[in-house]
Amino acid sequence: MSEVQVHDKIFTPFITAGQIQARVAELGAAIDRDYAGRKPLLIGVLNGSVIFMADLLRHIRSACEIGFIRVSSYHGTESSGKVKNVMGLSDELSGRHVIIVEDIIDTGDTAVYLLDEIKKKNPASLAFATILFKPAALRHPVKPDYVGFEIPPAFVVGYGLDYDGLGRNLADIYQLKS
Ligand code: 5GP
Repeated sequence: MSEVQVHDKIFTPFITAGQIQARVAELGAAIDRDYAGRKPLLIGVLNGSVIFMADLLRHIRSACEIGFIRVSSYHGTESSGKVKNVMGLSDELSGRHVIIVEDIIDTGDTAVYLLDEIKKKNPASLAFATILFKPAALRHPVKPDYVGFEIPPAFVVGYGLDYDGLGRNLADIYQLKS
C-alpha cells in the first residue's frame, strides 16, 4: 500500500482491507449470535456507513432487515450551537431490535443524538455498531456495543469515510499525513 492524495492532502496507509474484512466478519458473527431469532433492524447512517453496512450484512446469517437515515447538522441561532436533524427515520420502530450502523464515532455528538431520537420510538432494544471509534475525542459518555477498531484522534479516509466528498471508495483506511 502506498500513500494516496485526496484533494490537496496526502494520506498514509493505516488499516488494510484485509484487516478490515477480518474484523467485520467477527462483528457480523457476534451480531448474528447476539440477535438470533430477534430479526434485528440495522439502520445505517448515510453516507459513511454504506460500505461497512454492506460487508457486515453478509456475515449475518439469520433474518434481519436494513434501513438508512441521514443526519444533517447546522448552526442554530441558539447558544446550544449545532442543531441536528434526522431524515428517513421510520415511525415503526416500536418493539424492534434496532442496531445503528455508523462509520465513526468522534466526539460522540451524532451518536448521542441518534440514540435519543431512536429511543423516542420505543424500540425493544437499541445498540450501536461502528467500524471506527476515537475514544480520546469523545465529549459524551457513549459506549458503542460493536466496535471495529479504536483509533487515535487523527483524520481518516477510506472504507466509506470521505474527505470533502472524496475517498469513500478506497478499500483500505488511510490517515492524514502529519
Ligand atoms: P461525531 O458526531 O462523533 O463527532 O462525528 C461523527 C461524524 O463525523 C462521522 O459520521 C463522520 O462523518 C465525521 N468524522 C469524524 N471523524 C472523522 C474522520 O476521521 N474522518 C472522516 N472522514 N470523517 C470523520
